[in-house]
Amino acid sequence: MAEGGFDVPLKCSPEEYKHFVEPAMQEAQNSNFPSALDIVENGLNAHPASEGLMFLKAYFGYKIADTMSSELSSFPKVIQPLGNGALMVDGAMTSQLLGKFQEIVKILSEAEESINELLQVNPNSQEVVAFKGYIDSKKNQLGQESENMKVTISNTPNIAGSFCVGCRKSISYDTQKVVFRKSSASQLEAWHLPCFQSKSKN
Ligand SMILES: [Zn+2]
Repeated sequence: MAEGGFDVPLKCSPEEYKHFVEPAMQEAQNSNFPSALDIVENGLNAHPASEGLMFLKAYFGYKIADTMSSELSSFPKVIQPLGNGALMVDGAMTSQLLGKFQEIVKILSEAEESINELLQVNPNSQEVVAFKGYIDSKKNQLGQESENMKVTISNTPNIAGSFCVGCRKSISYDTQKVVFRKSSASQLEAWHLPCFQSKSKN
């Protein structure tokens, strides 16, 4: 479906096709989805009721979000095991990742708005309904992942405290690299990564 999205027979005048759809498709063929989306959005400014352009807006938005989320899989791991039950969490990277998630969810929400408009005029179009399903499931998946990450980050100080066991200074969980280690059955201790490393050397 994602590949054949362009074939959906939604209303589009020859003029819209020539000035916006064709040039946007050209960009899309080179995987330049942000430019394709720009062209389609310009088209919608001039022809706000164009169903073909609305569909393409959602489609290109989805492609951008899809590309961005596959790029996230090559992101450095935010949590790394250090051995002996110690875990290193990269706070800055986690914040960056959460920012990316938010960006993608925003793009998907805009795509969804477009699809919702289309659904109002084409309530029985299976293609539009199916595409809305695509967007929704991607959004839910990203929302869940970022929610889990946020909960972990915001709960950490409650569990491990806000101070480094090594230097006794405060820890900034969303900017610093922090090592967690179990100190007893119920206690979790937190270290700045450099403090943990210099302690391990001794
Ligand atoms: Zn420290």
